[in-house]
Amino acid sequence: MRKSPQGQQQNPDGAFTPNIDFPPRPEPTNYCGISTDSLMRSVVDSTINSHAGVEVERLPEPSAWRVSSGVPGPSVSIFGGVHGNEPCGIHAVCELLGLLVSGELKLDCGSVLLCIANEQAVFHGVRATSLNMNRIFDDTRHVDTSYLFRRTEALKSLIEHSDIHLDLHSTSQPSSPFIFLEHGHRLEVADVNIPFIVTLDDADMAKDFSGTTQSYARRRGAKAYTIENGQHEDPRSREHALRISIDFLKREGLTPNGDRQHGSPRALRQFLMHKKQSEAFHFRKPFRSFERLSRGDIIGTEEGRLLTAPEDCFIVLPTMPDREPFGAYLYFLAKEEI
Ligand SMILES: [Zn+2]
Repeated sequence: MRKSPQGQQQNPDGAFTPNIDFPPRPEPTNYCGISTDSLMRSVVDSTINSHAGVEVERLPEPSAWRVSSGVPGPSVSIFGGVHGNEPCGIHAVCELLGLLVSGELKLDCGSVLLCIANEQAVFHGVRATSLNMNRIFDDTRHVDTSYLFRRTEALKSLIEHSDIHLDLHSTSQPSSPFIFLEHGHRLEVADVNIPFIVTLDDADMAKDFSGTTQSYARRRGAKAYTIENGQHEDPRSREHALRISIDFLKREGLTPNGDRQHGSPRALRQFLMHKKQSEAFHFRKPFRSFERLSRGDIIGTEEGRLLTAPEDCFIVLPTMPDREPFGAYLYFLAKEEI
């Protein structure tokens, strides 16, 4: 299964050259109405191979599995579906589970924990059923017993001892794949095979994104990365999520890495984060991430006030303003690191 002669591909973003082949599989456009716990179980049942030499463990928390090599090495956790309308992470988690339990992707050392995080939002095909799960991984222990908080507390304990944590996401607007992380950690990912990395000042990350799974894992001592793999509906986002995850396993030595291709992502540093202050916000046009702006270019209007680029830069992560609450970011502006 899953052998393909597709070979290397070059996408319009140029730098991204995958280094593992896998064939396209028919997938639902999203995972609405699907029990992710049953989905992961069926992946294991259909791929498990007693000769793979791995221990496969279904964790007490649903939609969470650990595959262990039995050889000392890094503990890696990979989350998909923190936002329920982002199918790429769910796809990658299920594919990785199948590849590892079948032995098709050989696990030389360490362990990989694979989890579909917000099962409820995935089932309903929405970003969040109430609060944004990726803002409540803070250090206070939630006593609320509703699904969202109970699940978040359980997931916190799953990543408590991770050495490396990946959180797989996608974007509402078209985008090249990128890693989003603290500026101080940018050199950790300088050779990842991905077109861009986007960094935020460490203080801004701590202030505005302290409740992400990435920030939580960082505070527990892990190297942790939020990976944006492209637009939600773009089928390439699923390929990116899988390939980038495998690239991390290779570079950390968990899987054979003789064929690993080093990348050299372009590094952009965020210098402005525009937060929603009014319902009367309009982008001048639908922007895509990494679109270039020249100084003075009009980005949009808010309460009739013109919003312009203060200098030559790139726009990153433009959102759907009508879907965001007050205080949420609507776009970033970033410059290339010299
Ligand atoms: Zn997301």
